[in-house]
Amino acid sequence: MKRYSAFAIVREAFRQHTGWPRAWASPEPRERYDVIIVGAGGHGLATAYYLGRNFGITNVAVLEKGWLGGGNTGRNTTIIRSNYLQDASAAIYEKARSLYETLSQELNFNLMFSPRGVMMLAQTEHEVRGYRRTAEANALQGVETEFIGRERVKELCPIINIEGPRYPVLGALWQPRGGTARHDAVAWGYARACSDMGMHIIQRCEVTGIRTEGGRVTGVSTTRGDIGCNKLGIVVAGHSGVLAQMAGFRLPIESVALQAMVSEPVKPCMDVVVMANTVHGYMSQSDKGEMVIGGGADGFNNYTQRGSFHHIEETVRALCETFPIISRLKMLRQWGGIVDMTGDRSPIISKTPVENIFINCGWGTGGFKAIPGSGWAMAELMVKGESPLAAEFGLNRFREGRFIDESVAAGVAH
Ligand SMILES: Cc1cc2nc3c(=O)[nH]c(=O)nc-3n(C[C@H](O)[C@H](O)[C@H](O)COP(=O)(O)OP(=O)(O)OC[C@H]3O[C@@H](n4cnc5c(N)ncnc54)[C@H](O)[C@@H]3O)c2cc1C
Repeated sequence: MKRYSAFAIVREAFRQHTGWPRAWASPEPRERYDVIIVGAGGHGLATAYYLGRNFGITNVAVLEKGWLGGGNTGRNTTIIRSNYLQDASAAIYEKARSLYETLSQELNFNLMFSPRGVMMLAQTEHEVRGYRRTAEANALQGVETEFIGRERVKELCPIINIEGPRYPVLGALWQPRGGTARHDAVAWGYARACSDMGMHIIQRCEVTGIRTEGGRVTGVSTTRGDIGCNKLGIVVAGHSGVLAQMAGFRLPIESVALQAMVSEPVKPCMDVVVMANTVHGYMSQSDKGEMVIGGGADGFNNYTQRGSFHHIEETVRALCETFPIISRLKMLRQWGGIVDMTGDRSPIISKTPVENIFINCGWGTGGFKAIPGSGWAMAELMVKGESPLAAEFGLNRFREGRFIDESVAAGVAH
């Protein structure tokens, strides 16, 4: 891999940029790999990366039915935070957040990580109590957050209307090292590093069947032929139920559309991320100046990567009352992704009923922030059969009633 550096840019400028190699290779599939990962989203690519980085396993293929990063990884609103309530969640999200801090340097790829601070507004007494409790829990977990008053909210984000017409702002849960990163770059950075380790990232290769023998995985059938493997990781977000069905087991998740939109670009007016969960909308400003806006998930199951129109209206209404300054902005683009929701709004990183098939899903509306930590834990689970970070997130928790309830911290109305 050619290192990206200021020196390389200057050198290439003199060569009219003819010397840049492809960022990752496009190989033909081999007959067999030690490990196959299905899904080249952030979580799948991070799993492959940490298999190589932490365990030296590089005979790995990542199979993707579309283009890498074209799923939810390239469709989210890029918010990164770790202000969750339960210990198991705080541990994995904080691991991810702390890995993000130095990931650009590690991958030699600019992820544009911007720890600009994230605030979750408290607009009811109930939310004040909930967020105070989370701040206390975070202090015990070693996650840096604090509950701030409404004056401080206004100071940090002057464009907020703290007297909101329906719900006044009473305070906020503030995480100063939360923020955003460029979502495509996260996928591209991991892909480039995986390819450099000799792993195969095979795009336009849809897995259509999972082959097993004696309760153990032997390989997959794909649109580019059968491929054998010793271990299989299913990391396909909203399509997890479909893949699980191929392997012959069921998952306690639902797939629904979640959508986002951006406005036309405007001058810098907001340098923090704000989530207003009562009225329901969240917003940040991209480096290009667009206001990046997200809202709630559709109330019915589907696989269309669009989302329904009434959610756009509800989200825009919520944000216009929170930020009256945006009321005359034009919407530039809108899109949707299929998110994988569990009943307790926590992920699944787990062994499955089929030996050597592992699954990583259920990140729902909030898995972008978790990508490095999730990949770290999934790789460890696939190699060692257990991972401290993943221990609580097994499939058996649904049978045993050990839910990790994060419906408040998940922050998106479901
Ligand atoms: C609108 C929106 C806003 C969001 N905002 C945030 C946010 O601000 N912060 C945050 O933390 N999270 C957010 N999320 C959630 C986050 O995007 C996801 O949790 C995360 O990206 C999931 O990553 P993934 O790698 O698991 O899935 P994906 O990126 O969806 O990757 C899965 C891949 O599997 C592939 N695949 C599926 N079936 C097959 C098959 N049969 N064969 C081969 N490949 C297959 C798909 O093509 C896809 O590329 C948001 C999501 C959406 C939709």
